Amino acid sequence: MLKSLRSRLLLSYLAVIVVALVLVAGTLFGFSTVSAVRYLPGLQRLAAISLTNQVDLLRLQQLGGSGDDVEQLLDGTSVAQDVRIIAADALSLRVVYDSAPNGAWLGHRITEVSEPRDLPFDAANNSIFGLYQSPDGDSWLVYAQPTLAFDRFIFLYAIPEPTPLSFFRDFFVNPLIGAGVIAFLLSILLALIITTSVARPLQRMAGAAEAIAEGDYDQALALEGPREVRRVANSFNSMARQVNATQQSQRDFVANVSHDLKTPITSIQGWSQALLDGTAVTPEEQQQAARIINSESERMARMVDDLLALARLSSGQLALTLEPVDVAQLVEDVAATLLPRAQEKQIELTVDVAPVPPVRGDADRLTQVITNLAANALTYTPPGGHVSLTLRTPEDDEVAIAVADDGPGIPAAELPRIFERFYQVDKSRTRVQEPGGHGLGLAIAKELVALHNGRIQVDSQEGRGSIFTVFLPAEAGPRP
Ligand code: ADP
Repeated sequence: MLKSLRSRLLLSYLAVIVVALVLVAGTLFGFSTVSAVRYLPGLQRLAAISLTNQVDLLRLQQLGGSGDDVEQLLDGTSVAQDVRIIAADALSLRVVYDSAPNGAWLGHRITEVSEPRDLPFDAANNSIFGLYQSPDGDSWLVYAQPTLAFDRFIFLYAIPEPTPLSFFRDFFVNPLIGAGVIAFLLSILLALIITTSVARPLQRMAGAAEAIAEGDYDQALALEGPREVRRVANSFNSMARQVNATQQSQRDFVANVSHDLKTPITSIQGWSQALLDGTAVTPEEQQQAARIINSESERMARMVDDLLALARLSSGQLALTLEPVDVAQLVEDVAATLLPRAQEKQIELTVDVAPVPPVRGDADRLTQVITNLAANALTYTPPGGHVSLTLRTPEDDEVAIAVADDGPGIPAAELPRIFERFYQVDKSRTRVQEPGGHGLGLAIAKELVALHNGRIQVDSQEGRGSIFTVFLPAEAGPRP
């Protein structure tokens, strides 16, 4: 029953209404208990009855009515108005008439009528009003005003003393019930309005989510409804965009993999065919065919290795062997490894290493990252260029390894994309200069650095060169 938002809202409103009503009722009841105001309506009624009765008594006296006639009149008024009427002797104050069937007060003297304090009652002159303790112990609210007719008597009008409960019941219960009903109706309306404003966008969201589940990723929700719902819709939209982008990159990935594998396979097929059908006749031609088959299969093997590494990185299966790494040594080692290649290409390779704190990481993986960046620099920098590896601590708790070259640089528009899988700025350029690149190196490097809680930054200017900087958090401890 309480599953829907509407019923929950309604129930909470109902609870608030009930609590509010109980509080108001309690306050009013407390007020009825302590205040003499509860006597006011009763006294006003008695005064009104007394006044009407005075007129009737006066008329009766003018007509020469007897004692029986007076009693009859008083009996009639008592029954009609549901009020007890007493006639007492004006001098002795002894009761000579009591409208109550048992005439219990007959013969008693009504001497003590206590006037409640702080009672805002505007009584007629010389009237008597207040509480009277009857001979049988009950408390009565009584009222008498000076008599014009039959002035040997005092006519006293009495009702049982109004209790706080009876006052509360007579004057507050109905308004409170009315207020409760109105508040409940209003809360139904409010719950309807709120649930509609929340439910409609939610239904749209559910529809869009189903569409995504069925493969239609192009979903954008209008931002409407309460702020929280708009936030969810906003998050939904960015999620949909993300899913769309992921799907797209997956499609691109498959297309790229197939394309990049197909190229060496075609080459291998062609050259092996040439060997088989005897097209490559001379030893030189056969040598060339074997060399190409060998290098293309190496290229394919490298690519498959990279793909496997990426797959492991994406699925979180690649476990790092964490240990304190001497980054200075690591950079020196990478430079030493790549030196022959630099010399072969006539590129000046320099190393500038400042003392830095150790980094907690996987030495092999970090070597892979720096080697990749430095190898790229050597690949894209033309002979006669300059590649430098620099190690610094820009912040006390950070180590920065910069690989700079004065090669062709990367166009600003391409920079945001170079870390994407298979992205190559200019495939033809890569191929011509150094076969083997397939646009996975930077994607792997980025993932590996992220695994070390670090980041890669690239600054590049077309025609002037590029600087790739890897920032890694330093292991806490004193600097060497
Ligand atoms: P690749 O195997 O093609 O080198 P990477 O992911 O390592 O793949 O690099 C992506 C692309 O970024 C490269 O194809 C190249 O266009 C560009 N790039 C990377 N490093 C450099 C650099 N030092 N100078 C110029 N371009 C670079």
